[in-house]
Amino acid sequence: MNGTSHGLSPERDRTAAALTPLPGSLKTMSTRVRLPTPYGRCSFCLREDVALTREHVFARWLVERLRAWRVTASGHALADTAPQTRIADLVANVCGACNHGWMSSLEVSFRQAVFGTSRPERLAAPTRQVLSRWFTKTATLVAYAAGQELIPDEQWSELPNAMPAGIRVGLARIRRPRQPLDLGFEYSETHADHRTARVMSVAVQVDDLVGIVTRTPFLAVRATTLWPIRSHVLRWTTLPVVNRLTDLTAG
Ligand SMILES: [Zn+2]
Repeated sequence: MNGTSHGLSPERDRTAAALTPLPGSLKTMSTRVRLPTPYGRCSFCLREDVALTREHVFARWLVERLRAWRVTASGHALADTAPQTRIADLVANVCGACNHGWMSSLEVSFRQAVFGTSRPERLAAPTRQVLSRWFTKTATLVAYAAGQELIPDEQWSELPNAMPAGIRVGLARIRRPRQPLDLGFEYSETHADHRTARVMSVAVQVDDLVGIVTRTPFLAVRATTLWPIRSHVLRWTTLPVVNRLTDLTAG
């Protein structure tokens, strides 16, 4: 990510200096001193010199619904580099227009698609688009908070309206989730030092549903392809089921 062109970089730099986390660790901004609202370029709408506010990567309604206030990522990739960072504390800076506009709409659509009472059994194309964009937006910001780049900076601006080109999203269920919210990272080299390896996929678990977002040409074989949309029909009840999150991120 090009830090100089990014509206988040001044705050990130000061946060890094204050907390001195290891590279690649999940950086939480919850413990830093409150800084004045920064101004810069919004990475999503590309407007310059806009006020950027700290917004939670995971919306409050979702954290409360899942009762996931204190949950930390279970994976080794994060546990060995980061202090116990709560997933609910992850934040990213976005402009007000994005936060109250497309992000808010996407949140409402995701909530209806996943938790709606009259949810259709079949995942129609609009639902697949909503889920794909929500998981991709979330995975992108999670990776960023972890000091990683899942989607190149210049592609972030595609997310407000569509799916970024070249991104694939898989969907699966966890048989008996041990926690209601979780994150998994897949790196470019197995057993590589996570401080230098590039993240290739990010899995986001919401309740027993997992979306895995990857920039590789292939998805984890245990997930079904949510995006790009192919002709096959997806149904909630026939999604592949795995035992744990690492079944999807182990390659
Ligand atoms: Zn914006």
